[in-house]
Amino acid sequence: MTLPEKPLLIGAHTSAQGGAHNALLEGKEIGATTVQLFTRNQKRWDTKELTGEEIELFQKTLEETQLSHIMSHDSYLINLGCPNEDNLHKSREAFEKELVRCQQLGITYLNFHPGAALTGPVQACLDTIVESLEKLEDIAAKGPTRLLIETTAGQGSCVGHTFEQIAYLTEKLHKKIPIGVCIDTCHIFAAGYDLRTPEAFEETLRVFDTVVGLKHLYAFHANDSMKPLASRVDRHAPLGEGEIGMECFKMLMQHPKTKHLPKYLETPDGPPLWKKEIELLRKFAL
Ligand SMILES: [Zn+2]
Ligand SMILES: [Zn+2]
Repeated sequence: MTLPEKPLLIGAHTSAQGGAHNALLEGKEIGATTVQLFTRNQKRWDTKELTGEEIELFQKTLEETQLSHIMSHDSYLINLGCPNEDNLHKSREAFEKELVRCQQLGITYLNFHPGAALTGPVQACLDTIVESLEKLEDIAAKGPTRLLIETTAGQGSCVGHTFEQIAYLTEKLHKKIPIGVCIDTCHIFAAGYDLRTPEAFEETLRVFDTVVGLKHLYAFHANDSMKPLASRVDRHAPLGEGEIGMECFKMLMQHPKTKHLPKYLETPDGPPLWKKEIELLRKFAL
């Protein structure tokens, strides 16, 4: 007897307006098997604590919708590598609260942008990020949530746009906290890693494996890119309509190393587009 294949984990960044559980319901509506969400208003520093009712409703909805591998995206305000003491302190506090919220909700992955060096040196930024995350050792050990470093496009002074920088973080941290990597296809392409042909896709995956290690790879943000290779500009495009093209997303769904990892769409047009793109990705996998 052959075991039934695991369902493919494909979803999008859905809206948690009116409560985190709504992101799950929206996911279900568009045919997703997983979703990414903001557990809070991502543009504000202050947050209310989750109530017991909210936590229960989220868990009940999770059960009903049968979604899994839920991912939280941290607030864009947080900079764990900030050279400014005040902002670093605020960032660390907000990130710790975010991790606790994720644990309360039973969220699998907390995806975060590593940080920005601003006017400081890159190496100092990377070391500050390591220090920020090391502080979470005790808290991270308590819950199910794994912290995923998101690869960035390298806009401005953002770090995390080279696999070497990502590897520096995973190497320093993986024995202390549950950590991993989420590759955003738009971001790495904008950062200079080609994905346009099956050969280029394979080569980029090989380089990632050599530098970081595929054992640290847990998820993908599946986005095409409005901007060209190595532009270091982060602008998402619908799948197949950007500079990357559809071949990459076929590979993503067919390659034995990436097929079964969860994919989260962050393409521009919202639920109607996501519904089509989820269907398309599922077809590619057949
Ligand atoms: Zn992101
Ligand atoms: Zn982006």
